[in-house]
Amino acid sequence: MELAEFNGFNANRSQTLHFQHEAGLIKSARTRGRDSGSGAERTRTLNYDQIFDQAIDRLHSEGRYRVFIDILRNKGAFPNARCFAGHNGPKPITVWCSNDYLAMGQHPKVIAAMEEALNDVGAGSGGTRNIGGNTHYHIQLEEELADLHGKEAALLFTSGYVSNDATLSTLAKLLPGCVIFSDELNHASMIAGIRNSGCEKRIFRHNDVAHLEELLASEDPDCPKLIAFESVYSMDGDVAPIHALCDLAEKYNALTYIDEVHAVGMYGARGGGISERDEAAHRIDLIEGTLGKAFGVMGGYVASSRKVIDCIRSYAPGFIFTTSLSPVLVAGVLASVRHLKQSSVEREGQQASAAMLKQKFRDAGLPVMDSTTHIVPLMVGDPVRAKKISDILLAEYGVYVQPINFPTVPRGTERLRFTPGPSHTETMMQELTEALVEIWDRMELELRKAA
Ligand code: PLP
Repeated sequence: MELAEFNGFNANRSQTLHFQHEAGLIKSARTRGRDSGSGAERTRTLNYDQIFDQAIDRLHSEGRYRVFIDILRNKGAFPNARCFAGHNGPKPITVWCSNDYLAMGQHPKVIAAMEEALNDVGAGSGGTRNIGGNTHYHIQLEEELADLHGKEAALLFTSGYVSNDATLSTLAKLLPGCVIFSDELNHASMIAGIRNSGCEKRIFRHNDVAHLEELLASEDPDCPKLIAFESVYSMDGDVAPIHALCDLAEKYNALTYIDEVHAVGMYGARGGGISERDEAAHRIDLIEGTLGKAFGVMGGYVASSRKVIDCIRSYAPGFIFTTSLSPVLVAGVLASVRHLKQSSVEREGQQASAAMLKQKFRDAGLPVMDSTTHIVPLMVGDPVRAKKISDILLAEYGVYVQPINFPTVPRGTERLRFTPGPSHTETMMQELTEALVEIWDRMELELRKAA
């Protein structure tokens, strides 16, 4: 999700309110002021059900009402799963859109570690980190993650979303007069953090270093500055120019914050992300990641200097006031991070699969988007068509790939986003490509001519 999405949401919201006023669903403040009456009278002017119905109807009319698939993954056999869509019992399917990128959620070491922790210490953590919820697993994992990124310390959160929101909002509040410079395609969780910080923000065009410099140069040289960006942008599969961004940060004395959610575990010799691969980790002040995608379990974190981590730990409500991750989850992540630090088999398998699928799509004339990473997006450009292709794939071919619609991507760029991993075989890819070509043909969509 990106800024455009949030802006889009705002636009929709004000349009919606406007519409509701027009339709008489909500009385205007002026009219309300003239109401003689009691709270009860005023309440009768609001039709909550109608407002909610209209909110959902809008999504249906735009073809982007979200339907969640009902599946169970088959333990140890990813990407195979069972789907409960019909009435004839579960049907076997192949999953093509999971963010368990390396199938670590099914890895025997991860499962064994979680089983062992469950048997040893039970299910939950028992509270916040401050009151009852700090365990040896949490401490060990934070040490492991700090080491992964070459930082002094790390801090765990209950998700990547929470880590971005809590860290960015807290950091900027601690820096009076801070201005945050944010890539226009940053994830919703970063946008939420920036917004919740209440500080000034400047949006730079996606990966546009010259634009960022323009914005930096126009600020007071003495005000605190933070540049926030991602490494791998997950819907297009492109990568940030990290060194160029760090050069600007040095020139204008700004802090740097990178979201490596779609890169940790997958890039760099030990899975430290693009910042490790590009030998830039030491130039970045805060590195944020998830434990729910390539590491296969759940949770989020930031890694930084001991001082910065101590500040976030001490001030961030999103860290302080919530029950910590279950030690069972943390034990699973610990096994996953440790494994991926010393094994590149999964990373190499994923890269080979992504390259092969892109090539098959290209050879077949399917509109595969340019992506320099493991993400393989296929442009459709229409929400209704994207949903229809996804529905046919599931119903007729046992292929699960979710359509990606606004607000996750801009309108008119709706797509299917494939995430092949080390466990997707060439046969699966061939069958998928043939199925897509058949559907493209059936729906009279254009295939690109071979070059
Ligand atoms: N950052 C980015 C770029 C993401 O795409 C996501 C989730 O999709 C998150 C953060 C949130 O991570 P999590 O799923 O662990 O909450």
